[in-house]
Amino acid sequence: MLVAARALSSSLAFLVAVTLAACSASIEAESASATEPATPVDEGEAADVTPAPAHDAGTSAAADASHAPTPSAHWTYEGEEGPEHWGDLAPSYATCKTGGEQSPIDIPASVASAELAGIALSYAPAPVAIVDNGHTVQVNFVGGSNAITIAGKEYKLLQYHFHKHSEHTLGGAPLPLEVHLVHKASDGGLAVLGAFYSVGAVNEALQGVFDAMHSATATATSLPFTFDPSVLLPSDRAGWTYDGSLTTPPCSEGVKWNVFAAVQEVSEDQLAAFHHDPSARPVQPLGARTLHGGN
Ligand SMILES: [Zn+2]
Repeated sequence: MLVAARALSSSLAFLVAVTLAACSASIEAESASATEPATPVDEGEAADVTPAPAHDAGTSAAADASHAPTPSAHWTYEGEEGPEHWGDLAPSYATCKTGGEQSPIDIPASVASAELAGIALSYAPAPVAIVDNGHTVQVNFVGGSNAITIAGKEYKLLQYHFHKHSEHTLGGAPLPLEVHLVHKASDGGLAVLGAFYSVGAVNEALQGVFDAMHSATATATSLPFTFDPSVLLPSDRAGWTYDGSLTTPPCSEGVKWNVFAAVQEVSEDQLAAFHHDPSARPVQPLGARTLHGGN
């Protein structure tokens, strides 16, 4: 999509690139297209919050194709459109109630974390844009070449966003905050890195993002700094892996989850700056899956 965008005039190309980045970076729905119809609503989408300016601006065939015509529905974290009802809100959300490999999950104390040695990170500072899609605050990587490699397969970093409290729980207990770094392979496969935060010292590396949260809107807005995604992850690379799903409608499965064990810190003020509370889907049954320490 970015290649196509560059064929347009420079100013228009920039706008299209940003909006398409917001669109595709908002993950997860597009990725579902390999196994089920794409839908316009997911963890990162604004379509159910506003008249979807990003999509209206996207005029390429690719954008149209990846966001066509499956009905979507508004959803929330509480009440009649809350997680217990997601699977009934739209046919395209059915996996939320019928899926057998759903996320998040509880990580029991009996499964020890281990080095995530199978993941190679290739991260460097890159331009970013911030968007508040009504469900979370999301930071999109605009261009750049951040990626991870798992078992020889490359997944490009699209965006990261937060959940409050954490979605994954440790021994049945949530942490105050969780970040998800969403990556997508060229074949549409998704890999998400998750990391926890407790309340403590100011997280200086994230202050610029927390400062920008209060003015974030449904339209992705460039931030005046580059961002190195490695600051989101603990230096201790131990954790757990399992096969799961998107944690928001349409709850598509086939997502490679990698959750870091070491808990980082944000300050009370930083936690308060992320105002989407609650923004966590309850944990789902592990079922027949295996939760691995390390990978
Ligand atoms: Zn998430």
